[in-house]
Amino acid sequence: MAIASINPATGETLQTFEPLNNQQLDDKLQLAASTFRRYRRTSFNDREPLMKRAAEILEGDKARFARIMTLEMGKPIKAAAQEVEKCAWVCRYYAENARKHLADEVVETTASKSFVHFQPLGPVLAVMPWNFPFWQVFRFAAPALMAGNVGLLKHASNVPQCALAIEEIFKRAGFPEGSFQTLLIGSDAVQRVLEDGRVVAATLTGSEPAGRSVASIAGKQIKKTVLELGGSDPFIVMPSANIQEAANTGVKARTINNGQSCIAAKRFIVAAEIYDQFTERFVSGFKALRVGDPLEEAVDIGPLATPQIVNDLERQVNSFISAGASVLTGGKRLSGKGNFFQPTVLTNVSHDIPEYCEELFGPVALLFRVNNIDEALRLANDTDFGLGASAWTNDESEIRRLVDDLEAGVVFINGMVASDPRLPFGGVKNSGYGRELSQFGIREFVNIKTVWIS
Ligand code: NAP
Repeated sequence: MAIASINPATGETLQTFEPLNNQQLDDKLQLAASTFRRYRRTSFNDREPLMKRAAEILEGDKARFARIMTLEMGKPIKAAAQEVEKCAWVCRYYAENARKHLADEVVETTASKSFVHFQPLGPVLAVMPWNFPFWQVFRFAAPALMAGNVGLLKHASNVPQCALAIEEIFKRAGFPEGSFQTLLIGSDAVQRVLEDGRVVAATLTGSEPAGRSVASIAGKQIKKTVLELGGSDPFIVMPSANIQEAANTGVKARTINNGQSCIAAKRFIVAAEIYDQFTERFVSGFKALRVGDPLEEAVDIGPLATPQIVNDLERQVNSFISAGASVLTGGKRLSGKGNFFQPTVLTNVSHDIPEYCEELFGPVALLFRVNNIDEALRLANDTDFGLGASAWTNDESEIRRLVDDLEAGVVFINGMVASDPRLPFGGVKNSGYGRELSQFGIREFVNIKTVWIS
């Protein structure tokens, strides 16, 4: 399968790449294995300045990296620049904290000394999506490399320039050759890599089917996996909330990254008492969004990353409309070149069509009216996904209920769900398992070794 960079705003092919042949792939796996044998013996003192240097390179070349992202997958240029800054943050966070997170932990027992010792595992395969093409990779790579593992990146096939730029960053930062390599391969080659004895574990961020496939292959090989999959995050608004702030944040939470975020709020569940007030503000926020060329600073919504994503979204929206949904704004793809879809709000949504259970990956919000917190929770949890959840209320008892009963890996009260290097990130149910970021993320790909000295 061709690996091509295609500008989603214009349809123009920017560059194409030949996928690695078997010999080239084998050479890279061999290099990863031999580099690991040396790299695992380096200390935190050796790795820290390299990771800090990676942060400096990101910041120094921010505009170039942001432009590559925007040209390849269409995110607004301002957001792309912020993504580069966030990558620098995660590099610094792990440069400064890996030592603490992986320090020996002494446990009092009857031994003269017993402790837990953390050691790297080896070459880890990262299968990554295009939607945050830098951030997703750095949030894997910074902890993995600081722990002493080496990384093999199989990036989404539509962002090869991002994949190569990230490999270059680690090289320029001074990491040993082979400690982070990009594999330009299609998803059909992932099985071969996972089955190779030199690869010890895998992480996948992407769709549910891709996660199922990677986890089952790795399971047969008894290799550890972390899965960060899709989401259908609820955004609950109760009567005591600040309605205007909830509406403003809701617009952003649904349309961030052109609506293509795993933790975008996708289902807006609003108390009947304030439903009309919220809806008016929310819909007028959607109407004010500027759709256009993502290289322009003033644009809020760029194109969707591929024609397939627009086709899928159009099918989903049309099915909702055929089943009786009302369109409060938008509802259609834009004619002309590029993969643009109107920011859309739907209400009166049927629960009885297959699309109700699907993730909506684009700027389309579904609005629901509920009578109380019980109904809100029931509807919020009525999904196979369990990634993030945002809820708006100033009532203490409701806050406790929401924190306890929302089936999600991440719950934000009176705020928009976001990732932060200091906090664990991941899902439950079909949104995956394992955690990234924080002390939990760096411990996913280490041998947690028990040591007992009699
Ligand atoms: P995708 O189609 O699953 O692709 C993700 C990665 O998996 C790509 O590198 C892709 O390679 C590869 N892949 C696809 N099918 C595969 C298979 N059968 N075996 C092995 N690898 C396979 O997902 P996407 O469309 O790029 O990304 C959007 C999805 O990612 C959404 O569901 C979103 O919610 C989710 N996501 C989750 C998180 C999170 O943290 N939970 C974060 C971001 C995105 P090719 O490109 O070569 O097919």
